Amino acid sequence: MNTEAFFKITYGLYIISSQNDEIKNGYVANTAFQVTAEPAQIAISCNKDNFTCDLIKKSGFFSISVLKQETKSDLIGLFGYQSGRTTNKFESTQHIVSENKTPIVTEDSIAWFECKVVSNVDVGTHLMFIAEIIDNDLLDAQARPLTYAYYHEVKKGFAPKNAPTYIDQSKLDGKTQESHKDNKYQCSICKYIYDPELGDLDHGIPPGTNFEDLGENWSCPVCGAPKSAFNKL
Ligand code: FE
Repeated sequence: MNTEAFFKITYGLYIISSQNDEIKNGYVANTAFQVTAEPAQIAISCNKDNFTCDLIKKSGFFSISVLKQETKSDLIGLFGYQSGRTTNKFESTQHIVSENKTPIVTEDSIAWFECKVVSNVDVGTHLMFIAEIIDNDLLDAQARPLTYAYYHEVKKGFAPKNAPTYIDQSKLDGKTQESHKDNKYQCSICKYIYDPELGDLDHGIPPGTNFEDLGENWSCPVCGAPKSAFNKL
């Protein structure tokens, strides 16, 4: 199997949220796709280990927020790489709550959909929820949606381990790994690689800045992990 071929499948990036018993949670997903137009239905594939998966099963509702291309790394870090079991992700995130008590992230979002589950399919590690869209809104008609390809190529982010599209990087082409080994440091949480030649423009770090010269407050631009979570390649 050629692992790199999987990067040729295109996706968007979304935050999927749900609430049960006053507990809200959400996660970053790239698998959300419209399956029928009449009625308008959407499907998502959710890891069974995700806290949000439990909330969707219990409440029967979830929302999908479509992220914009300029989405802050901190928001992706919070929703993509931290667990709702230990972090209240909604405390610091702009959102609204529907009449059905579905939390909907509006921060860095250009559109959202509220969905009512009509069935689910057990696909092994994941549950695929099929849901009817019961409400939606367009928040920004001009902004471009964030795609997984852009996130991977420009933001240098990779799918977290629970994603259906997670790729074990030890299986990537040896040349890809080799080209990264020159005074580069890798985040142990999300596998982002800090390259001194590129710097970290998201955090105002100009190209040519060595890892050692980054301030102690500097954090991973993809997942928000501290500098101490990085290892030299
Ligand atoms: Fe990271």
